Amino acid sequence: MAPASGARALIARALRRLGPPLLALATLGVDGRAPRIGETLESAPTREVSGTTCVGANDLARLLRATKFWHPEVRKLILRAGPHRIQLTAEDPFVVVDDGTVALPAPVMPVGGELQVPVALADLLPRDSTLARLVFDPRRRVLVVAPPSGVLGSARVVVQEGRTRLVFEADRPEEVVVVSRARDHFRVRFGGFFSGSLPDALPAAALVQRIRPIGAAAGSAFEMAVSRQATGFRVVRDTRARRVVLEFTREPSSEFTAFAPEGPPGPRDLRVVVLDPGHGGRDAGVTAGGLVEKDLTLALARQLESEIGRRLRVRVVLTRTEDRDVPVEARAEIANRARADLVVSLHFDGFPNAAAGGATAYVPPATYSSAGFTGGAGSLTVLAWREAATRHAVESRALGEAILSSLELRGDGPILLRELLPYPLLGVDAPGLLLECATLTARADRERVGGRAGMAELAETIADGIQAYQRNE
Ligand SMILES: [Zn+2]
Repeated sequence: MAPASGARALIARALRRLGPPLLALATLGVDGRAPRIGETLESAPTREVSGTTCVGANDLARLLRATKFWHPEVRKLILRAGPHRIQLTAEDPFVVVDDGTVALPAPVMPVGGELQVPVALADLLPRDSTLARLVFDPRRRVLVVAPPSGVLGSARVVVQEGRTRLVFEADRPEEVVVVSRARDHFRVRFGGFFSGSLPDALPAAALVQRIRPIGAAAGSAFEMAVSRQATGFRVVRDTRARRVVLEFTREPSSEFTAFAPEGPPGPRDLRVVVLDPGHGGRDAGVTAGGLVEKDLTLALARQLESEIGRRLRVRVVLTRTEDRDVPVEARAEIANRARADLVVSLHFDGFPNAAAGGATAYVPPATYSSAGFTGGAGSLTVLAWREAATRHAVESRALGEAILSSLELRGDGPILLRELLPYPLLGVDAPGLLLECATLTARADRERVGGRAGMAELAETIADGIQAYQRNE
């Protein structure tokens, strides 16, 4: 609603009296992108004023992209943001927002020449696209502009009849992804900025023993330690109630998903890591948008070699160091002769459907299946196969989960783990996987891995995964 003509006249008078208007015009647009690692959300510090958490009116105006009009004779400050009008009065808990009035838990207080506004106002402002949405982050004690990807609220823990539920208020329940299914490192990524707090201590009977926030390229991610007594988990996405429930159960049930199989505890003894740059020579692999798979896999293997060498005391062996044909048997022989503790065959994917993207890990299945499989763009053939690789199935799967989890959290998803013996691992007697690091037919993936920086980041991310596998924390 437009302000009454009286108010307009008042504003005009105030402006004349003040000379140059006190403007805090919006210069920042909302670009529709979720924040990435290193990107900081726009925020303002808060302070305690007589026991109430407050934000300075200047900061409030900046976050709301509002123009300020101060009327000293009535000690009112009017903030105008798009079609909205917020009227704050010194020493008054009532705030006029558009044509309504809201009550704050404490009055707006002038401190050192600036009004201090209780942060509770953030929840009382209109929610529409014309007004920046503000949320109070209790962990950092700042008021932030909520990103377009939405907000994730505090987690509530409910323990009941052999089940433990973690209930999150979420703007985007459909975006939740379980990134790692291992009990010790159960990782979940949510859409939206986490503005809530985590429970300080979990109930002794809860199947989740610990929860902590971890870094993610987009949204918010958490790692949990799940009790050995839990047999499965499920994720309930309630879009209507804007809620995500992570549920863990003691009793085995077909409605729940099993955790990843676990190897023995403690760090893994890694001495030799074999990297297998896919394709080479006459076999170019996938080509798309000017990128050639055989060149990328070799470049990545070299980067990864130095990245792993920097972090772990291991010998790194490459199955090829130049652009040449290497038959599968020769690759397996190199790995076996080097006494590989793990083998990563590096590939890039391609699909006829340009919308398909992300990373896929193929690991040997724990059980032998006679079903054959041919992968995307004829780049990969998965054969039915018997012993050596299936012996390492559990470890291969743990390696796959560790690397994919690291890719997902860096924003290189969607990720997919498939239990199918990949042709390049045929005859390899060590835990291993074939990693389709990205999809060259997907433009976003191409842009990410095409440059030098992208390749270095990919190598770091895969090395993070290998390191997590080695630590087995
Ligand atoms: Zn390939």
